[in-house]
Amino acid sequence: MVKGEEIVLRGLPVSKGIGIGFPIFFTSWDEDIPEIQIPKKEVDQEIDRYRRALKQSREDLERLHKISLCEGPSEIVSIIGSHLEMMQDPMMTTLMEEKIRDLQRNTESIFHHLIEEYKRRFSTLQDTYFQERVRDIVDVSRRILSHLRPLTRIKITELPHNSVILTHELVPSETVEVNASLVSGFVTAAGGITSHAAIIARAKGIPYVANIDMKVFKRVELQSLIVDGSQGIVIINPTRKTLKKYQAIKRGHLQNYKLLKSASHLKGETVDGYEVRIFANLENPKEVDLLLRNGAAGIGLFRSEYLFLSKREFPSEEEQFQIYKKMARSLRGRPLVIRIFDIGGDKKVDLAPGHRDSHYFNRLGNELNPALGCRAVRFLLRFPELLEAQLRAILRASAFGDIHILIPMVSDLSELREVRAVIDKLRIELKAKNIKVAKSIPVGCMIEVPSSAIMCDALAQEADFLSIGTNDLVQYVLAADRGNPHTSELYFATHPSILRLIRMVVASAGSARKPVILCGECAADPALIPVLIGLGIREFSVAARHIPLVKHTIRKWRILEACRLAEGALEYTAAQELKQYISEETAR
Ligand code: PEP
Ligand code: MG
Repeated sequence: MVKGEEIVLRGLPVSKGIGIGFPIFFTSWDEDIPEIQIPKKEVDQEIDRYRRALKQSREDLERLHKISLCEGPSEIVSIIGSHLEMMQDPMMTTLMEEKIRDLQRNTESIFHHLIEEYKRRFSTLQDTYFQERVRDIVDVSRRILSHLRPLTRIKITELPHNSVILTHELVPSETVEVNASLVSGFVTAAGGITSHAAIIARAKGIPYVANIDMKVFKRVELQSLIVDGSQGIVIINPTRKTLKKYQAIKRGHLQNYKLLKSASHLKGETVDGYEVRIFANLENPKEVDLLLRNGAAGIGLFRSEYLFLSKREFPSEEEQFQIYKKMARSLRGRPLVIRIFDIGGDKKVDLAPGHRDSHYFNRLGNELNPALGCRAVRFLLRFPELLEAQLRAILRASAFGDIHILIPMVSDLSELREVRAVIDKLRIELKAKNIKVAKSIPVGCMIEVPSSAIMCDALAQEADFLSIGTNDLVQYVLAADRGNPHTSELYFATHPSILRLIRMVVASAGSARKPVILCGECAADPALIPVLIGLGIREFSVAARHIPLVKHTIRKWRILEACRLAEGALEYTAAQELKQYISEETAR
């Protein structure tokens, strides 16, 4: 182990800013299970410990089996049945006991190796039947492991002050729970610039560097860390000199931000008086006040799926109604765009086995390509009971404010029509019960997959508004995973194809006289903002934290300059050259 000398690592800059703190390894169940040799005389005790964990797991499942026999659905009953059978399998009983006796190691590590071995064998078989078996094995093994090591996992909500989280990968459901006053930075091996976890880290202002080889941290004696999320640098055990330098940079950032914030109540308008409305993207309904303080014109994108991700179960219609109603009221007449659940892709939760909601995901099987799978509106149309509960809650809340409904991942006009038909049906049902619903609730489509961008003229005719989601549009147009650090070089919001598509969408929305808003992360990029304004975008939605910077940038440009900049940009045909043009022309 290398003693406390300074080591500089380079990775992918994901969330700007300087974080200084102490390392905390954050592991998931599958990682880092210690291997401990046990004395021969304790082997029997170890086997007993395993038998107890197996017995407790069996009792859990029997309880769940009983409940699901009454409440259904039948898929759950059969899944639990097969898990119970699996626990009787010699692999789980005699083979495990033999291995503990022969290898004399702690049960967790033997069990973990055995499960990994099974997963490896089954994973090479593409058949869905075998993929489902892998899922079952993982479920069962997590249950047993949770009885073997119930207290060893640190909760992400209970970290000490100034923690720098080191982990293989951040998932959105955990990142959203992080308390920004306790966590100074994130360092991961996996993760891309617009992964959902990255978006949350930026919205919370937590510096983040990805694509770092985690093995390095195991070879050195760790004392403190600096995360430079602007440059993509991680410094292990910084010297006094380095520490002073970064503390000064951090102070500078804070002062700048305070200055920008002091002007955030001003309008977002160009030097020559063209108004650009700035809305906020929101994941946590409790943050409505923050976005109002930062000068938002309303909520341009409420990522409602976070209600599910942070609770790990679908909220009931009544719970949703109360939340939407409270948000609408707090906005005092400003618009609230609720995007119906964008579940799937990287926004999936590892639910505990037998969990009430796991049957939705079990029914989809193990998707080999989740970003192209049953995500967002596809997921909701597949499970109409979830869609109807959410829409009913939104319709009921519409009586308390200016609510809009946004459909994620529309790839065909039929999806807009189907959702509208459900809204119309529910409206009639609610009216029959004398429940008040707003007269008009605009329904919009996210333009975030190539087919919807290409067919935007047809969508603009039937939708009430369009919302361009560049985070996904870039991923799907360029076939570059937004969450993968190895495709970050290919993932460009400044790709010529993206600018052309944005121009097309703006033109179609204009011809149909429908509003268009842009809510991807590039709306907060000072170099891209003037280009987007020049392309005709007049409404942006960004994380509340970024609003002061976005307004400040808009207030530096004249509309004619922005149009000329955009015209020039549209002439470029190669991504790198276009990127260079934009960065040179906007450096002011
Ligand atoms: C987008 O895709 O640009 C978007 C705003 O939605 P999300 O980041 O939640 O996928
Ligand atoms: Mg999206």
